[in-house]
Amino acid sequence: MDRMLRWPESGAKLAELPLTSPLSGIVVPLEDVPDPVFSTRMMGDGLAIEPLSNRVLSPCDGVVTHRHRAGHAVTITAENGAEVLIHVGIDTVHLEGRGFTSHVQEGARVSAGDLLITFDVDEVARAVPSLLTLMLIANSDEYAISWRQSGAVDAGKSRLINVRRRDPKDAPLTRTSGEVAATRHATGAAVAEKQTEAVVAHHGGLHARPAALVQAAARRFGGEVTVTFGGRTVNARSVVALMGLGTKEGDRVTVHARGPSADTALAGVVAALQTADAKDGHKENGVPAPTPSRGRLPGGAIEGVCASPGLAVGQVVRLGSVDVEPPPALGNLDAEFERLANALATVRAEVAAAIRDAEARHARQEHDMFVAHQALLDDPEIVANTERAVGTGVSAGLAYRNAVNAECGVLSRLGNPLLAERITDLRDLERRVLLAMSGEALPEPELFEQSIIVADDLALSEFTRLDKSRIVGLCTAKGGATSHVAILARAIGVPGLVAMGPTLFSVAHGTEVVLDANAGRLETTPSANQLAAARKAMSDRAARHAEALAKVGLPAVTRDGHRIEVAANIATESDARESVQQGADGVGLLRTELLFVDREDPPTQGEQLAAYQAVINALDGRSAIIRTLDAGGDKPLPFLPFPKEDNPALGLRGIRSGFAEPELLDTQLRALLGVKPLSACKIMLPMVSDAEELLFVRKRLDTLASEMGLTERPSLGVMVEVPSAALLADQLARHADFLSLGTNDLTQYTLAMDRCHPGFAEKLDGLHPAVLRLIAKTVEGATRHGKWVGICGALASDLDALPILVGLGVTELSVSAGVVAEVKAKVRTLEYEACRRQTAILMNLTSAKEIRARARALWPDA
Ligand code: PEP
Ligand code: MG
Repeated sequence: MDRMLRWPESGAKLAELPLTSPLSGIVVPLEDVPDPVFSTRMMGDGLAIEPLSNRVLSPCDGVVTHRHRAGHAVTITAENGAEVLIHVGIDTVHLEGRGFTSHVQEGARVSAGDLLITFDVDEVARAVPSLLTLMLIANSDEYAISWRQSGAVDAGKSRLINVRRRDPKDAPLTRTSGEVAATRHATGAAVAEKQTEAVVAHHGGLHARPAALVQAAARRFGGEVTVTFGGRTVNARSVVALMGLGTKEGDRVTVHARGPSADTALAGVVAALQTADAKDGHKENGVPAPTPSRGRLPGGAIEGVCASPGLAVGQVVRLGSVDVEPPPALGNLDAEFERLANALATVRAEVAAAIRDAEARHARQEHDMFVAHQALLDDPEIVANTERAVGTGVSAGLAYRNAVNAECGVLSRLGNPLLAERITDLRDLERRVLLAMSGEALPEPELFEQSIIVADDLALSEFTRLDKSRIVGLCTAKGGATSHVAILARAIGVPGLVAMGPTLFSVAHGTEVVLDANAGRLETTPSANQLAAARKAMSDRAARHAEALAKVGLPAVTRDGHRIEVAANIATESDARESVQQGADGVGLLRTELLFVDREDPPTQGEQLAAYQAVINALDGRSAIIRTLDAGGDKPLPFLPFPKEDNPALGLRGIRSGFAEPELLDTQLRALLGVKPLSACKIMLPMVSDAEELLFVRKRLDTLASEMGLTERPSLGVMVEVPSAALLADQLARHADFLSLGTNDLTQYTLAMDRCHPGFAEKLDGLHPAVLRLIAKTVEGATRHGKWVGICGALASDLDALPILVGLGVTELSVSAGVVAEVKAKVRTLEYEACRRQTAILMNLTSAKEIRARARALWPDA
């Protein structure tokens, strides 16, 4: 092998060099390789081969200029200078040489057809997601592929590609960063390419639910979309790959789109990345963020992280995680493919049924979790890796398990607890798919009347099979406040502790325990006194809750007769129904953005009218405040061609985006004017900064109503979200029918702190004295013109803030539907005059922290 290298004469370097196939097998285009490092040509242009042999032969004469120590990859520098990289399998580096034998040394000279590597097909195929072998031109910026083979190839015989030194006029391989660059496909059609940066707004980064939103956006628009972070580029259509990036909230990623609708695809994916998933935020429901498990306490208690508040007494039901083995191989490639397809179809149908069921019960969070589950099931990385392994003779069950293992490995290596939690979901799907392959079913777990479920981590499908009427609490060794089990515990209203550690398993099945989630404790050996005290506390609490619920339909009036309207914040018709069930007096904020996101064109007037009318109908005589589109800033829309802004929070957003796109605003106003009865539909404008903006819309509304032949006019109000609006409240109130404080934005703009900035979460408190003074100023201005003031920001749902808001003279609170009963109940405990007096004093304190502490002391929760 140690021959003299025959370098070509000068000039020959420009000539075409044919390279023979290093393996026998089937040629696969690079785009289809299930690893974006290869498919996006980051490592260079080339081809892949689905191998049917295990002896890797040199494709040309040359020198071994690199040989990976794990033996799976080798680079030959050909006589014309092209660097030919051969890489056997995907993720084979992790095998650290197992299954590979190298037959060449670095620096050795080789001839075409010389043996470079041999590998054990069985051993390697069992351990990695794919055996696809890459042959790439590592220095593709200098060398171009002028011809490439397709179909079946023979090792050492078939020509695979021709490579030649690039002419300066050749199109560059590397993509330009920045704005649109038009390149040409082999077909000659113009293909747009666009790249931009985006900031991940999702709490906890791109974990399953946000990743599912991003991949849904990428899938909708076709073309090729990738997301790059930390030097890694992944296919935006893969939930698993997106999660594998390990991004955190606030991380800056690069999005690259290529294809006929690159513009819209880019905008859609950026919107999905930058629009925080409210369901993942814990600011509105007051659930504490996860903290590390603290283990066993003196007296037999085990500590955990509160995932769902409450107190329960019950008997422990230990749920072991069931390991399902892949069914034995069928020994026939077609039969294995069929088995895989059938199993995936079965599980897909099961998950779809669960989605429909959750929808029918209006169980939104459950619904969203199953949708995320479906995205994982259809994940192109897992499916493609499984299919490729099946194609090389691995059984369908083993191939699926290996593909899931590989993804779980990626997620666990990231060290991000949120992503590690998704391993439970992947394992859950693996179990379901393997069960579907073997046609077996899991036994039903037996529950006590009052069961406290104890598990390592509770998979979604396991939870769904349990009889919820017998569950009074949930405890898991793993998980965090954002795991499915935590969300489900809150959804079914039982207390839950997570991250309790393995000590949890020392509690025997059937033991009577006390679960105090608020205190973060599971009392595993409660005394008779402790049991009695817990039971009494529970019955007192239940009585209070029942009382609150029984009165939820009644108005919320303070002890001295001051009425507070308690409305709900919603986004959909099903939210509207839910808010009625929860006893809301109406809707104080309908965010209409949901109708506009994930689309290439805006919704028509008819579509919008149907959606608004459905909400009004669901409210059964109550009214809704419908906010016009709050686009731009943190809520970009794919079809709005707004220029990139350096400071989007201070840019074209809220009502300003309506002024920039007048047709969009007119269509929405026409749709709103079509709602019947019009008296039930109140229109509210977001991000208004002065009366001129309001007057413009009022005039426009008047014109449109006249054109539609209407004599009636709907109420028109403004959101007070920027300090200028609060300071000019008297001017606004002269022309508005009502004012509603958007305290989320008002706090951000008053304190000049980004509402999505993770580092400011604690400081961004609407009880800051500066924000309270602006609220007071707003009420003062509105009162001068006899107009009412409401609050629709998250501060309205904050029970500590409630007496202060009442004391400031706010008369409407628009809150999360789930807290309507509690807010109403707390209003009934207050005395308006005392709230006014105390609030005037609290306003002089210098920090939100002090104000909150004093408010808690003055008005403790019952
Ligand atoms: C607010 O800013 O308080 C508000 C309710 O609007 P959004 O959260 O939708 O920006
Ligand atoms: Mg706002």
